[in-house]
Amino acid sequence: MLNICITADHELFFGQNYGTEEEVLLEPTYRLMDMLAENGASLVLMSDVLSIFRYRELGMHEFPDGMEEQLLYAIKNGHDVQLHIHSHWLTSTYRQGTWNFDYTKYRIHDLGFEERDDGIPSAVEIIRKGKNYLEELLRPADSSYACRAFRAGGWNLLPERELLKSLASEGIWIDSSIFRGGRLKTGIHGFDYTKVPKSINWWIDPDLGIEHEAQKGDGRILEMVIGSYYGRPGLLAKKIENSVRGRLRKRRLGETPQRGTAFSDSKGAFETFVKRLENYIFQPIMLTYDGLCKEIMVDIVKQYLKSFDCENNDYYLSVIGHPKSMSNIGMLELEGFCRHMNKEYKGMVRFVNTSDIKI
Ligand SMILES: [Zn+2]
Repeated sequence: MLNICITADHELFFGQNYGTEEEVLLEPTYRLMDMLAENGASLVLMSDVLSIFRYRELGMHEFPDGMEEQLLYAIKNGHDVQLHIHSHWLTSTYRQGTWNFDYTKYRIHDLGFEERDDGIPSAVEIIRKGKNYLEELLRPADSSYACRAFRAGGWNLLPERELLKSLASEGIWIDSSIFRGGRLKTGIHGFDYTKVPKSINWWIDPDLGIEHEAQKGDGRILEMVIGSYYGRPGLLAKKIENSVRGRLRKRRLGETPQRGTAFSDSKGAFETFVKRLENYIFQPIMLTYDGLCKEIMVDIVKQYLKSFDCENNDYYLSVIGHPKSMSNIGMLELEGFCRHMNKEYKGMVRFVNTSDIKI
């Protein structure tokens, strides 16, 4: 069986947010959860817990209260909540209604893995605190709840050794940060997933790294990749097909106004243009509801069904998306994808969350 986890990076924008936190994040996340529930699927909220901590620390409680209410709603309604860390919250400041984000701490590695003496927690402490926080919050609603999965902020899992060891030592045994073929090197992002195993799932030994398929064992982490379409002939054609379909649908159904902007770490307009062109040509297509038409999402799943023996083995694959960027069309595309899977691939594909992962 090909088991699909529909995940959401449950976070605000790190550039500008154009509305309230309720409008930018909470409201679209509720709509997403309810739509999925109606279509026999659930959502895995990869929740950016450090935003909750930072708002509270600065005396702002409305957003953290709303987040906690939403996380409890998720658990009570058959969805799932796991850990997503954007470490720059720790040292970001808020003045006159605007966040000043500290991108020097954007990667969790920037905190270091040793105990610090400047009052800022280390990466190890943050992982422990995040996991304990989710379990204390959610176990009263579901006594079997466990924080078992992690997604690195900005997909920045590398260098992986210390990070994966820290996750394993806290009992987190699933990572879902890797998408095969992905490579990005900017001022603050840095990863290269072009040489990872051509698998959907494999065990990682932190000492041997993500490119080595290890045996299951103590201290090992199971990778559940984010689906992607990579390096195959036809990659560019698929991107063009997606753009054309997207434009036609936007013309027919209208655009949803953007709720915010991502941060920019470019060094100039020319570089941005060259990078964008390069990305357009070479980056894989991620299995996401952030801008893919349902036809392309279905195509990516079909590739996995063709390449792996899903009849005799269980595989677990992530779909990724961001409720903050969710447009009305994006919601319809995802709904169409779920309906298509339920109708045409019954018995071959099913929607699960991380509590169903048994390998
Ligand atoms: Zn994120």
